Amino acid sequence: MSAGWLRACALVILGLFSVSALAKDKTAIVIGGGLSGLTAAYELQNKGWQVTLLEAKPSLGGRSGMATSEWIGNDKTQPVLNKYVSTFKLGTTPAPEFVRTPSYLIDGVYYSAADLAIKDPTTAEALKRYEKTVDDLARSIEDPQNPAANNTLHALDQINVSNWLDRLTLPATARQLINQQIRTRYDEPSRLSLLYFAQQSRVYLGVSDRDLRASRLLGGSPVLAQAFVKQLKTIKTSSPVSAIVQDKDGVTVKVGSVNYQADYVVVAVPLRALNKISLTPALDAQHLGAIKGTNYGWRDQIMLKFKTPVWESKARMSGEIYSNTGLGMLWVEPALKGGANVVINLSGDNARVMQAFGDKQMADQVLIRLHAFYPQARGSFTGYEIRRYSTDPSMGGAYLAFGPGQISKYWRLWERPLQRVAFAGEHTDTLYPGTLEGALRTGQRAASQVEDLAAGKSFEPAKVVPVAAAAAAGAVAAKKGNFFTNLFGGGDDEKKPEPVKAPAPVAPAAPTPAPVPTPAPAPVETPKPAAPVKAEPAKKAPVKKPAAKTEAKKAPAKAPAKKAEPAKKPAAKPAATTETKAQ
Ligand SMILES: Cc1cc2nc3c(=O)[nH]c(=O)nc-3n(C[C@H](O)[C@H](O)[C@H](O)COP(=O)(O)OP(=O)(O)OC[C@H]3O[C@@H](n4cnc5c(N)ncnc54)[C@H](O)[C@@H]3O)c2cc1C
Repeated sequence: MSAGWLRACALVILGLFSVSALAKDKTAIVIGGGLSGLTAAYELQNKGWQVTLLEAKPSLGGRSGMATSEWIGNDKTQPVLNKYVSTFKLGTTPAPEFVRTPSYLIDGVYYSAADLAIKDPTTAEALKRYEKTVDDLARSIEDPQNPAANNTLHALDQINVSNWLDRLTLPATARQLINQQIRTRYDEPSRLSLLYFAQQSRVYLGVSDRDLRASRLLGGSPVLAQAFVKQLKTIKTSSPVSAIVQDKDGVTVKVGSVNYQADYVVVAVPLRALNKISLTPALDAQHLGAIKGTNYGWRDQIMLKFKTPVWESKARMSGEIYSNTGLGMLWVEPALKGGANVVINLSGDNARVMQAFGDKQMADQVLIRLHAFYPQARGSFTGYEIRRYSTDPSMGGAYLAFGPGQISKYWRLWERPLQRVAFAGEHTDTLYPGTLEGALRTGQRAASQVEDLAAGKSFEPAKVVPVAAAAAAGAVAAKKGNFFTNLFGGGDDEKKPEPVKAPAPVAPAAPTPAPVPTPAPAPVETPKPAAPVKAEPAKKAPVKKPAAKTEAKKAPAKAPAKKAEPAKKPAAKPAATTETKAQ
């Protein structure tokens, strides 16, 4: 064999070795075990990365799914979610027709949409008028990925939704129901940017409620988290990350005194939680401002359990019931273990006010209100569960809800990786923030960005809200002349709007203004607790742990689960450890 031939063979072998060494060295850490982090970890692992997922809490799944109550969209409206549902072969049950449209609880009386049209046509008509105006507003946005495409639209970011609603002069009941719907889906109208509301309305324009509430995962959305957990090889629960240090060779992630090292990191925690993680090199002023200032909607959930349904039978299993009183949005759901459950969603400033109450007081307050409408409530009450997303330091809110002026400052900020760190989480999705779909999409996006970074791609700084020439604004405004003229207070349909200066009087909301009462004083907003329910005191049922946790404990990973090494080893490079499933 010639020396040249031998040298060639040696080079080939060396080449193969270094390729496999490189493949082995592809390590990533994912911080946060909500659906976005689980998705990022799953996608990276599927692409051959050695991934360690670090979750602060003892359980996985984050904000997804309190119980069995969430309805999910079909593949037209939530394609990514549906893809995973079919990949993991998860069972679903179709939504009955009557849960697919919202209904109402007006002063304690239940109305379906059809009932309302007959029994309270004034409110029904006003709701229709409102919906048409929202559609017009939505149509003013051509590209929901770039909502502030011109000065007129940019100006909408300075207005809050409450001021805009005032101009519609709606009858009191309709306004209360609309406020309730907006604060449930986003946040208090007074804290919400009109541009964000318009952009989200554009995303869902023409999407039917039927497609959005098409089916339910058997077992609720925790089973989705559980399915990801089953696939992942290395998960560390009860591991709150305190610091991320990047240098030219890699990233060190600190959990207490334990260091983990990897080539890249996906940060999949909400902004308030990110605020507690120190980053080196430090973030710039814009990112720091976004972490502290971006508005999150408030929505807490109280599940009241009863021996038998105490509400009208036709309200049973309705999708969303908007109450015009302090009961917020109710969701009657089938109780899997017998009895009957109603989930009460307190949102916006009603939830903020309830912050002062302990769990039992909060359940009592809600039960008292329900009892006023349904007199069997106290006698049939068996217990409650509460989930407070807004005061949980790992979450700090229910979901992203841009306040006035915030799209202008922070639009798409977190879509761009910073050196070796990519960001995921519902708050980083342009189209579907605040949803499971949004969380899953961002996990996929972050995983592919890590691949891109490893391949040497650099990410350009995000373009922050290009405000197009005034001419463009004029063109859009002229096209939508009536709508904008009305919006900015003019009465002349033919008059050309002045796009930039008109909305000036509306000041952006302060970061944490005092709670704003709902138009008609809602009982829940009473600062003092009412007398506790005496007949049957609330028995505190243990708060249900997301099923993902149980799964993390018992489900064997596909690769046989070796006993997890305690998360103690300093500078443990995940690739080199034998850590497997969360224990
Ligand atoms: C009340 C309510 C109702 C909802 N209803 C629906 C609905 O009907 N349909 C729908 O599609 N969506 C709904 N959503 C939204 C959906 O649940 C969320 O968008 C989604 O679950 C968010 O996932 P995520 O991964 O972005 O964040 P999260 O689920 O919050 O995950 C973040 C994870 O990071 C962890 N973490 C935080 N700090 C650290 C740290 N320092 N170190 C390690 N880990 C950390 C947290 O513990 C958490 O597990 C609802 C949300 C709420 C609050």
